[in-house]
Amino acid sequence: MMQNYSLRVSTIIDHAARFHPKRPVLGRSVEGGVVQNNWLGVQREAKQLAAALRGLGIKKGDVIGVMAWNTVRHLSVWYGVPGAGAVNHTLNPRLFAEQLIYIINHAEDRFIMVDPDLLPIFEAIIDKIPKIEKIIVLTDRANMPESPLDLLCYQELVKGQPTDEPWMEGDENDPCGICYTSGTTGKPKGVVYSHRSNVLHALAAAAPDMINISSNDSVMPVVPLFHANGWSIAYNAPMAGAAMVMPGRDMSAPGLYEMLEMGVTFTAAVPTIWLGMLQYLEAENLQFSSLKRVLIGGASCPRAVIETFQNKYGVQVLHAWGMTEMSPLGTICSFKPEVNALPDAERLSVQETVGHPPYSVDLKIVNDWGEDLPWDGVSQGRLLTRGAAVVQHYLKAKEDAVDSDGWFDTGDVAVMDENGYVRITDRLKDVIKSGGEWISSIELENCAMAHPGVAEAAAVAVPHEKWSERPVLVIVPAPDNRPKRSEVISLLEKRFAKWQLPDDIIFVDDLPHTATGKVSKLELRQRLLDQSYTLPE
Ligand code: ADP
Repeated sequence: MMQNYSLRVSTIIDHAARFHPKRPVLGRSVEGGVVQNNWLGVQREAKQLAAALRGLGIKKGDVIGVMAWNTVRHLSVWYGVPGAGAVNHTLNPRLFAEQLIYIINHAEDRFIMVDPDLLPIFEAIIDKIPKIEKIIVLTDRANMPESPLDLLCYQELVKGQPTDEPWMEGDENDPCGICYTSGTTGKPKGVVYSHRSNVLHALAAAAPDMINISSNDSVMPVVPLFHANGWSIAYNAPMAGAAMVMPGRDMSAPGLYEMLEMGVTFTAAVPTIWLGMLQYLEAENLQFSSLKRVLIGGASCPRAVIETFQNKYGVQVLHAWGMTEMSPLGTICSFKPEVNALPDAERLSVQETVGHPPYSVDLKIVNDWGEDLPWDGVSQGRLLTRGAAVVQHYLKAKEDAVDSDGWFDTGDVAVMDENGYVRITDRLKDVIKSGGEWISSIELENCAMAHPGVAEAAAVAVPHEKWSERPVLVIVPAPDNRPKRSEVISLLEKRFAKWQLPDDIIFVDDLPHTATGKVSKLELRQRLLDQSYTLPE
């Protein structure tokens, strides 16, 4: 019989510290400047933090809210909090105050750990989160902010603590982290990751057909650690013994470019970040000197972005789909032999799909009656999943989030092909149903985005007497390059049947976004309603 090796996340950082101790872990700090560390240093500080938290009375299962940018210090917090037996509740600074209050109280956070510049968020809501006992500011004494709140200084807490005490022992099924879905409809829902689900997910995501990180990589997560389990990157990089570069809070294209040029080979973020980056590279006539692969997900990646990255900059795009409830990886678009054999243009079309799942993620598409649909590249249905790192039930929910066979409904609509590649066509709550037929809003948007004058696009349904709904395309024009309506239509005509074309194209200055940076179609539809928008005759 084999050993019953407990799949705790502490085993990941211990592995990195033992076998890749000197691998650089560097990043832009909140105090300013770039700090240099390595996996041994990150692990030691995590141990010190675990000891400090226990000294402050943190017990197994207690929840700590963490609101911090992607910094080197945040990595020690990432491992120090669960290392103390506590649960790391990631907090997104872009949430509305009411949502933040709700999730802090709902998860019963005891402590808050926060970057100094984000402290005002808590000063404003402190009366509404009465159970918070301590606020730890993630900086040193010299940089502690002035505040009416009673604060603890992180650096002082960890200083002098032992660097070699054992981690808090526990079961691999203990809670490790909590991330709330942004709750565009209804209240945010808490997804609780276990140590085991995080380790299994990281192992599955590491596979060569997935993110494929090795000790020769230098990894920069632009996606914040507070988005959907940080896309697991803070587990994957140390597991592989890769170097890490943490970009800090500067999410501007020049700021990120500067950090990418510190030898980064692999990076990850939502499409909006990369749209901005490509514009910047073009305007400044720059190239990447070390970047090899970029993981793009969280929202559909336009074909033009994939093409430019690969053909102009020699950077391979990995288009991915996932969600908070899946820890978050669902699928990644890497090439199976069947796809490798295709001509370039067809391969590019395959990259508009989100690819195929890793081991431990199962998928199927079903119709409205829950019957399985064929993987024929045409049949569209609700995408269901189950797996080792997929939610079973939401925090404190009375009922399971899955059906009696363990399938979780992702809320996405998709098509699958014979090779198991998934094309996401919509979110169920955003679908456009005209005359009983679905029109893919994502495909309309991506097609329009191929026009250089389209900076951002969103297709939404507008009520229609005869067809029940008709699509309208809302476009933010690129600076100094407003496209003609007819140009956009003729682009769309190449790909869509006449009845699928939008009834109207509206130009706006901006689109509403959610806290995770996605277009909020709910709000956009509401805006049109508020403006008493009517379709042209
Ligand atoms: P939310 O956006 O609800 O806060 P998530 O970050 O968990 O929470 O978002 C998951 C959703 O994002 C998926 O269900 C899907 O609708 C969308 N999504 C993620 N990746 C992609 C992609 N590559 N293409 C299209 N949609 C995507």
